[in-house]
Amino acid sequence: MLCGGGVIGLSIAYQCAQHGWKVLVVDSMAMGQAASWAGAGILPAGATIAALDPLEQLRSLSHLLHRDWSKQLLVETGIDNEYRQCGGVYLARTAAERATLSANRMWWDEHGIRYESWSNDQLVARIASMESMARSTPNLQSWFCPDDCRLRNPSHLQALIQACEKRGVTLIEQARIDGFETSQNRIISAKCGSQEFRADRYCITSGAWASQLLGPLGIETGILPVRGQMVLYQLDKPAFTTVINDGHRYLVPRDDGHVLAGSCEEEVGFDATTTDSMIADLQSWAEALCPALTRANIKRTWAGLRPGSFDTFPYLGTLHPMENGFIASGHFRHGLHWSTATALLMYQWMNGDKTEIDLMPFRVQRGRSLGK
Ligand SMILES: Cc1cc2nc3c(=O)[nH]c(=O)nc-3n(C[C@H](O)[C@H](O)[C@H](O)COP(=O)(O)OP(=O)(O)OC[C@H]3O[C@@H](n4cnc5c(N)ncnc54)[C@H](O)[C@@H]3O)c2cc1C
Repeated sequence: MLCGGGVIGLSIAYQCAQHGWKVLVVDSMAMGQAASWAGAGILPAGATIAALDPLEQLRSLSHLLHRDWSKQLLVETGIDNEYRQCGGVYLARTAAERATLSANRMWWDEHGIRYESWSNDQLVARIASMESMARSTPNLQSWFCPDDCRLRNPSHLQALIQACEKRGVTLIEQARIDGFETSQNRIISAKCGSQEFRADRYCITSGAWASQLLGPLGIETGILPVRGQMVLYQLDKPAFTTVINDGHRYLVPRDDGHVLAGSCEEEVGFDATTTDSMIADLQSWAEALCPALTRANIKRTWAGLRPGSFDTFPYLGTLHPMENGFIASGHFRHGLHWSTATALLMYQWMNGDKTEIDLMPFRVQRGRSLGK
């Protein structure tokens, strides 16, 4: 049973159902409507040579799997999740951004991630709408990573939901798990008001809300909600196809002319509303970077709660001391990207198999003494 039906819960369900497991996903709202819907769908390229860093291992495995998952989901559901190898541009306009990108380049070199430097002329030739910014920014640096990808997350979630249903997964919506009955280090049932759900294994996939379910089990994690806000523009036709990264902000194009402008990191508890000041800030940044957006309609604005973790690592593994309790939560800014490897690894772990990458760095007890 998966407690939470965002991209993480649905992906694990999809993976486990492929191996003949009887899977139940329960969500307090509708499936796939929280952070996973709110995200941008950027999939930055992963290492092409063996990485020592656990997060890089997770990213590169996910990156490899996304292409196959997207093809498979299209075959099973007919839904195109707009997975595209579109490449990503990285701009550095300030001294601090140039320093960050120097460090990024070392990382890319070490991990065999392809990149190239673009002159201002090359940038303008590829993305005409950047011309005024490129011509007016002294010491602008632009780097291009051809293996960066994107997907349209609402479509990806729809595809996952349909594919899960086709594989026999039971999806229950509007049912909030409020606790667990336990006995001798085992979870006996998940409680939902007067209802209860019984399963062999229970996996917490409730994203930013994971701590609310772990607290009653006496398990602490460093998961906290981190709000991100977004502006959705609609252009008549696509102005560019690549993802544009500018510091922590980005523009993400969709095939039909929509452009997402995001985002920010705000610690405001479980408040998932937008603020006028942040939306205005995002708009003025986006429209200065890409003046074509000043003529576009703003179709919608929204905010979502990323499941942040104190060390940016997600929690993947067993909910010790609960032998049949598991967790896959805390993917922060990368849950859409890391969902495919998470699903594979959690299936392997819960099935008692050797996992493709070591889950020790992602264990729930990290940050505490090993005796605990
Ligand atoms: C603005 C923004 C931009 C982002 N951009 C990107 C990006 O470009 N690339 C990327 O990889 N990631 C991105 N992310 C991060 C990504 O969206 C998240 O890491 C990912 O969606 C987390 O997935 P999840 O399934 O853990 O959480 P969620 O999608 O939040 O799902 C958790 C689910 O659990 C349910 N739930 C909670 N409590 C309970 C309970 N008690 N009982 C039952 N159900 C419960 C919720 O209703 C929810 O549906 C972005 C996020 C935001 C907000």
